[in-house]
Amino acid sequence: MAGWLMIAVEERKRAGDGYDDDPSRHYSWDARVPNATAVAVGDVIVLWDTHTLLGLSVIEAIEVGAGKKELRNCPACGRADVARRKTMIPEYKCWKCGAEFNQPVTREVEVKTYRSRHEAGWIDLRGSVSGAELRQLCEKPSSQLSLRRLRWEDFRERIETGKNPTPLRILDKTHEVITGGHRKVAVRVRVGQPVFREAMLATFGEVCAFTGPAPAQALEAAHLYSYAATGKHHRGGGLLLRRDIHRLFDLGLLAYNPGAKTIDVAPSLANFPLYSKLHGKALSIATTDEHVKWLTKHWDMHRNARQRSS
Ligand SMILES: [Zn+2]
Repeated sequence: MAGWLMIAVEERKRAGDGYDDDPSRHYSWDARVPNATAVAVGDVIVLWDTHTLLGLSVIEAIEVGAGKKELRNCPACGRADVARRKTMIPEYKCWKCGAEFNQPVTREVEVKTYRSRHEAGWIDLRGSVSGAELRQLCEKPSSQLSLRRLRWEDFRERIETGKNPTPLRILDKTHEVITGGHRKVAVRVRVGQPVFREAMLATFGEVCAFTGPAPAQALEAAHLYSYAATGKHHRGGGLLLRRDIHRLFDLGLLAYNPGAKTIDVAPSLANFPLYSKLHGKALSIATTDEHVKWLTKHWDMHRNARQRSS
């Protein structure tokens, strides 16, 4: 797999580039950005804001379009894309000819635009790896580019076995689906809309399906989202889960064993009594056929033919 480190929305909005990104769903760039055409469907996209990691996913699709971009050129030598300095006056300095100036020469040009879709595989890892560490995991640590090539295997090892280890099984599954494993389905658990959550609370009351009674403020409505090669999203059924339980369930560290009809806790949670004590317990709610159907899909993805994560 190829991996790309890309600077996400907050930082770029500040820089005035006017991209419209939701880091968990899509990312935009244009043909004037170095590496613009090297990024491909099936590649891993890792987003950061230059201070910290935000999350990562697999690129499902890249939409090509047309747009306009304002170029800021050096008034002395004409060099394109001069960057604004954050703290110094004059605000601009040309790194080619050394000229300092407050107003660049601006010019609007037509550009080919690219926009990735990567919602299916998104794993939120906000704050879990520092900007400095991310730079070191790039092929060129001193790069200033907005699209940087990662040393993917090293990055992966850092995420799966370093501080705050997180399994990347969802990423692998999504990658398989996208690159042609048509029989496979990546199963995710999403936070439902407020209306959906109200309905869940009316049905179940203030109860987490895995851990029992919990205040509404700590409960999220979870619904299943499966991504097939067709790009189809499915909805059906839903459960209320405590927020931390929801997160561990989405990563497959907690699951429901449909054969034993009990909760299954991944071995990597063995040292956390709060979670490990759930192993072998029954759910706290009466399940419907719909629940069992999607809990089984989740189980099949995370527990059958277990590969890398534990
Ligand atoms: Zn210049």
